[in-house]
This record gives sequence, structure tokens and C-alpha cells, in this order.
Amino acid sequence: MSDAHSVRALLEPEHLEFAAAAEAFATDSLAGQSHPEDDAEARTRARDYLVSLGGGGWLDPIERQDLRACCLVREALAGASPLADAVFALQALAATPILLFANDETRGRWLPALISGDAMGAFAMTEPGAGSDVQSLATTAVKDGDHYVLNGRKSFISNAGIADVYVMFASTDPGAGSRALSAFVVPADAEGCSFAGAQVMSAPHPLGDLEMVDCRVPAAAMLGREGDGFKIGMATLDRLRPTVGAAACGMADRALTEAIAHALERHQFGQALADFQLIQQKLARMATELTAARFLVYRAAWEKDQGAERITLEAAMAKAYATEAAQRIVDDAVQILGGKGVLADSVVDHLYRAVRALRIYEGTTEIQHLVIAGQVLKRYREKGSAQ
Ligand SMILES: Cc1cc2nc3c(=O)[nH]c(=O)nc-3n(C[C@H](O)[C@H](O)[C@H](O)COP(=O)(O)OP(=O)(O)OC[C@H]3O[C@@H](n4cnc5c(N)ncnc54)[C@H](O)[C@@H]3O)c2cc1C
Repeated sequence: MSDAHSVRALLEPEHLEFAAAAEAFATDSLAGQSHPEDDAEARTRARDYLVSLGGGGWLDPIERQDLRACCLVREALAGASPLADAVFALQALAATPILLFANDETRGRWLPALISGDAMGAFAMTEPGAGSDVQSLATTAVKDGDHYVLNGRKSFISNAGIADVYVMFASTDPGAGSRALSAFVVPADAEGCSFAGAQVMSAPHPLGDLEMVDCRVPAAAMLGREGDGFKIGMATLDRLRPTVGAAACGMADRALTEAIAHALERHQFGQALADFQLIQQKLARMATELTAARFLVYRAAWEKDQGAERITLEAAMAKAYATEAAQRIVDDAVQILGGKGVLADSVVDHLYRAVRALRIYEGTTEIQHLVIAGQVLKRYREKGSAQ
């Protein structure tokens, strides 16, 4: 769920209307749906959600590069259905580098289909031996005439096995680090590219491995130039990390709403839980942290929408703080619901399982903290040397 009014100072008037419409869509179309029983059902459901997101125009802000609108959609979706939110997230992760770095032909082939929901996208960076340490990617890309030949394995790839297209990162010179990384647009049906098995999470989220064996892709399918892959990956993550923070806010808001409703309704020791000061302290902290998280998220998105070239520091702060705060808020909500909070059909139990991954994907909290410290120290040193 979203509370766009709390950050209206950072939004345009049309964002408030858009947020209300996104909220209505999420509540009416998603919130009441049963949870997928298993991974197979989650995969089918993800494709269904893609059709409704594309058909309803909810993916359009990705193409418009309206980052605050992307955050508003993710807040609304994540509160109602973390799976639908993940579908939005992956369309953005695939469409953004294609929008910014593909040649006209590749962009024309994939961007309209990704935004309309006709094609499902994925972002294939992580490997069994390369998670946080992206520079150590071992998937190779070897030039062969006007093609590149890809070999290697990708792991923890959202939408693996159901995507139509992968933005895939590979090295033209493993051992040469970030300078040798390149990014390619690889159709899922490209010869030599195959789904190598699902990785099943405790929350519904299609995830899995990919294998590339002599997978030939045209050189024209490369994003940017050879060696631009690291820059492209980081530019994409920079833009989209605030939206991860927004998804965290959406989950936290739903958990807080559930906790308040329960605290008002449930009576123990002759009074409502909401009348106990220890419960009030929890609610106060939850509401305050949620508001602080929203300001960091929309501050980062506002900077980008105003034309900032990079928002590395702002995005890292937004993602790290919002996802950590959301984890604490959801955990407090479970505590306030008591035994009901851990029942398998409880809303807060589902949020508890879904929110955890946000502190890990698109760069863990620890990596965000390294980024923040690096930026802060750099600014301090630059200031010092200018004096
Ligand atoms: C639900 C989910 C969806 C995902 N979707 C995708 C996707 O679509 N595409 C994709 O490419 N990847 C995806 N990933 C992978 C994700 O980006 C990685 O899991 C993440 O980058 C962390 O890598 P790792 O799991 O290998 O952990 P590791 O890098 O092994 O880290 C393990 C722990 O060590 C810490 N650590 C690592 N290095 C340092 C350091 N220098 N200093 C301090 N601490 C450190 C980490 O913060 C973490 O706590 C997904 C992951 C999940 C859980």
C-alpha cells in the first residue's frame, strides 16, 4: 500500500492521482487473491500478472522514466501482492538497460513488448561464484565474426524459465574484472540458452538457474560497447534501487495497517491491545520508520526525475534504510498479532517471508553500506582538498 500524501512535497500533483489509481488497482485486482500453492502456480500467476500490469498501463512509467511513478506503483503492488511487485521489478530491470543502451533495432524489438506485457523480461547477472562480487563473473563472451558466443551459468535469476528475454552479463576476459564485462540481450529461445532448474523460495517468486552452452548472439545485441557491461549494470541498479525501497515501504505499510486493526480489535487484560503503552511504542516506531523510509525513497527518485546523472548515494541510502526498516516493521506486526501472526494464511506471515529477500537482491544491505561510506568519504576528501 502507499501513502503518497506523506511525501507530497516530493511529488507532482499528477503523482497523487496516479498513486490513488494504482492503489485502487492493487486493492481491487490483487489484494484478495489466494497465495500460489507452489512454485509452478507462482510461475503461471506471474505471467498472468504481467498481462494485467501491461494491459492496465502500469508498466508505462518505466518507459517514461518517471522514477517516482515507478516507486508509487511498486508501493501499491507490494502491499497487495509481493509477486506482482516482483513482476514489475523485473520488467523494469530488463527494460531500463534496453531503453538506455540498446541500438534502435534491439530497442524496437523488445521495449514495446516489455512495456505492453507481451514479453517477460529478466536480468541475468548473478552466478554461482559471483554474487556481491560482480567483477568476478565467469560467464564468457567470445567474439566470432559478427556474433558473440556465450558460455557459463547464471544463478538466482528471477523469472528464469518463464522470461522471453534476458539482459545478460558476461566477460570478454575473465580475470580482467569490471573492464571486461559486457551486456547482451538474449532471447530465451536462443540456441544454447536453457533453463537449468528452479530455486524455490519460501515466498512465491520465480527464481532459477540458466545455462549457456555455445549460445550465439549477434554482436548487434550487445548493449552499449564491449566493456560497458559494468557501467550499464550499475547505472540500471542505481536507478532502480529506490524502487526496491518503495516495495519495502508498501509491504511495511500493509503490515502496519494489519497491526493497527488488530491492536484496536483484540482485547486482553480487559482492554484493547492499542491501549497498552508498550504496543503504542511499537506502533509509533513503525510509523516513524516507515515515514523516514518513504522520504529517503522519494528523495532519491526526485533527484533522478530532476535530471541527476547518478543517484548512487541517494539510491543506496533509500534501499538500505527502507528494506531494513520494513523488516523491523513487519516483524513488529507479527509480534502484535501474536499467534495469529505466524499462521500460514495470515497476511503478516506472507509479508514476513516476502520482505526478507529485499535486503539481499539488487545489492545486499552490506554492499549498500559500502557504497554509502565510499561516497561520503569521497565527498569529505574532495572538500578537504578544495580547502
Ligand atoms: C529473491 C532473489 C531474487 C534475485 N534476483 C536476481 C536477478 O533477477 N538477477 C540477478 O542477477 N541476481 C538476482 N539475485 C541475486 C542477488 O543479487 C544476490 O543474491 C546478491 O547480490 C548477493 O549475492 P550472494 O547471494 O552471492 O551473496 P554473497 O555475495 O555471497 O554475500 C553473502 C553475505 O556476505 C556479505 N558480503 C559480501 N561481500 C561483502 C563485503 N565486501 N563486505 C561485507 N559483507 C559482504 C553480503 O552482504 C551477504 O550478507 C536474486 C536474489 C534473491 C534472493
